[in-house]
Amino acid sequence: MARILTPSCRMCRAEKEKLFLKGARCTSSKCALMKREYGPGQHGQMRRRKPSNYAMQLREKQKVKRAYGMMERQFRNYFKKADRAKGETGMILIQLLERRLDNVIYRSCFTSSLAAARQIVGHRLVKVNGSRVNIPSYQVSEGDEISLYGSEEQRKAVKETFKMLEDRGIPDWIEVSEEDLKVKIKRLPTKNDSGRDIQENLIVELYSK
Ligand code: SF4
Repeated sequence: MARILTPSCRMCRAEKEKLFLKGARCTSSKCALMKREYGPGQHGQMRRRKPSNYAMQLREKQKVKRAYGMMERQFRNYFKKADRAKGETGMILIQLLERRLDNVIYRSCFTSSLAAARQIVGHRLVKVNGSRVNIPSYQVSEGDEISLYGSEEQRKAVKETFKMLEDRGIPDWIEVSEEDLKVKIKRLPTKNDSGRDIQENLIVELYSK
């Protein structure tokens, strides 16, 4: 299976925005973007011209794709799915990304990064409505109940992580029960629930060319 090999911090620096890919490090003073606020590579500190429309669209797409830990083909498939669905394509795209099981675990503050959430799902520690699911891209639906399993130690570690991250804020479309390590999907997320500043119209424009 193809893997993203670009270092996480390099991706943030390319987008000039924190993508929060490295868990606790991202909120500490060790964050690479805080230490070096310029782009990566030997031309990173060069003065830039005003970006063209295409450049803005490309950067927005790259930012969102990277924030959700995806490769190009997978991200484009999400766009195609959103494009085929009834409604506003950009909004549906964000909704599809937010509804991913790994994202729900991450947004519930059970893990410090999306990669860690993906690992929990991959290790078969998650059940959706009582059935084990090990597919990070699984799309949750309204009313779904997600539970975390594992050894006593694993559960304790997740609870400790939750306590540390609680202040990050849990979106109101999910309800988290920290004691039982359960999550309930109260409603489907909207564009504003992503917690990120996304200009989805730029992505739609880019892919609609
Ligand atoms: Fe991005 Fe986190 Fe690295 Fe900072 S520490 S640059 S937020 S991945």
